[in-house]
Amino acid sequence: MVRYFLPWWPSDYIWKEWRIDDDMTKQPHWSKAYLWDYLPDLLDGILVSRMAVSLRKVKTLRQDIRYSGTILGDSGAHSYRAFDQPPFSCQDLLDFYAQGQFNYGMTLDMVASPWVRPGGLPSNELERRLQLTLTNAEICLELCDRYQYPFQLLGVVQGWDAESYQRCARALVQMGFEYVAIAGQRKLSLIKDAIRATQAEICNADRPIKIHVLGTGNPHILPYYVEQGIDSFDSSTWLRKAWLDNRYNYFDVSGNCHTAHRATRIGLGPLDVDSLEWATSITCPCPFSQDLGQQILLFRGHERNTRRGFHNVYQYYQLLNAHRTL
Ligand SMILES: [Zn+2]
Repeated sequence: MVRYFLPWWPSDYIWKEWRIDDDMTKQPHWSKAYLWDYLPDLLDGILVSRMAVSLRKVKTLRQDIRYSGTILGDSGAHSYRAFDQPPFSCQDLLDFYAQGQFNYGMTLDMVASPWVRPGGLPSNELERRLQLTLTNAEICLELCDRYQYPFQLLGVVQGWDAESYQRCARALVQMGFEYVAIAGQRKLSLIKDAIRATQAEICNADRPIKIHVLGTGNPHILPYYVEQGIDSFDSSTWLRKAWLDNRYNYFDVSGNCHTAHRATRIGLGPLDVDSLEWATSITCPCPFSQDLGQQILLFRGHERNTRRGFHNVYQYYQLLNAHRTL
């Protein structure tokens, strides 16, 4: 069954004691609460990026966020995609995974896609990034063998077309990886090409090799993941659209999406909310929709917006489970 990892950022919390009447205010004694505090069995795991948490803070991360489930780590290559080199070493990255008691960690990659910079990247630069990804994968593998880190290492497959993905996957298979992670692409057709290219190499291997797909959870590709036997993927799109999308902020399992009222822009006070015309009535059984009622559709402040994001993750899981049990 394909496992779904939710990418987690330190800002993905709510204040436990907050109530609607508190609106935009906050009390100093309030405590942080996370999605899994409310829905402990919802997630298959979380993805924590090296770029999101410091080496110092990762040591107590599990205790700080009260998370005992599966953690997958990655370098956060998207955050440094405009750089020429990753801003830390392979050793630093592996120490990060080990100190955070992660279950899985990905090799130190560089995004090798033309769209990482305005105007694109020349072909020799794409090739350099792919080679750097492979060199780092080999270094990470050697370090893992030498120090016997207590997590499983995933080799990142980078590329910009089917041929380059396949070349990268072939090299990782030859190195000995048993779990590879295909770097995401904006175009779904290219992701499918990358999956096919990787699977072509995996078929020739003398051992089973698992596949993770990075950063792509578009509902249209979920049936494909299930059909192709993809082992895991991650996506935070539905969570972040709750406050980042201009139009679609509140989702449900059947694919309906609604726009939240921009109360900040139109200057509504809490008393005026009752007179709004809501796009939909709230029937979702998740604790966030139940707690906020119609106000979960109010685009106003971190507390409402993040709760709406948590609701979206809950609905995303219902959607995923519908595909997984087919
Ligand atoms: Zn809900």
